[in-house]
Amino acid sequence: MHEIVMQKHPSAHVSLSRNVQNDLLKDVCQRPNIEACGLLLGSSDEQGNWQIEQVYPMHNIYTSPVYFEFSPEELLDAELAHPGEIVGVYHSHPTGLATASSTDRENMQRVNCEEDIPWVWLIISGPFNDVFQHKQNIKSSVTAYHHYKKLGLRQITVQFTEKNVAVPAVDSEPIG
Ligand SMILES: [Zn+2]
Repeated sequence: MHEIVMQKHPSAHVSLSRNVQNDLLKDVCQRPNIEACGLLLGSSDEQGNWQIEQVYPMHNIYTSPVYFEFSPEELLDAELAHPGEIVGVYHSHPTGLATASSTDRENMQRVNCEEDIPWVWLIISGPFNDVFQHKQNIKSSVTAYHHYKKLGLRQITVQFTEKNVAVPAVDSEPIG
C-alpha cells in the first residue's frame, strides 16, 4: 500500500456552525467504539462551498469500529423528512485513522461522480477517550473531502464558525 498525497482544493470550504460542532462531538462520544455516522443538513452556494447547519445521526447497521453503512430505509426516511437539505455525510474513525480509508475513497468517488450526488464528507478521527471528551473540541479531529469529476479527490478546508443557525423549534405538521 502506498501513501496517497492529498491535494487541497484551492478554494472550496465547508463551514460548521457551533451547534454542528457540538452535535458531532456528542455523537462520536456517545458511541466511541464504533464508527458513528450520519447526515449533514444545510446548503451549498454557487461557489461550491457547503454550510452545515444540522447534524442528523444515523444508525451504523454494521456497528463496526472500522466500517459504516446506513440502512436504505433510514436514508429514505431522512430524504423524505429533509428534501434538498442533505448536503453531506459524516463518520468517525474510532481507531484514530486521520485520513479517508480506501473504502471511504471508493464511496466518495461512487457517490460524488457516478451517482452525481454533490455531498461533502467529514471524518472525525479518535480515539474518543477521556482526553478527547475532556477537550470538548473537535477542531483538530475533522477532515473533509469531496471527489470532483475533473480534479479527483480533494481535501476541503473546514471552517469553524461561532454562530448558530436558527433551527425551527417545532416541525410543522404535514398538510393533508
Ligand atoms: Zn472511514
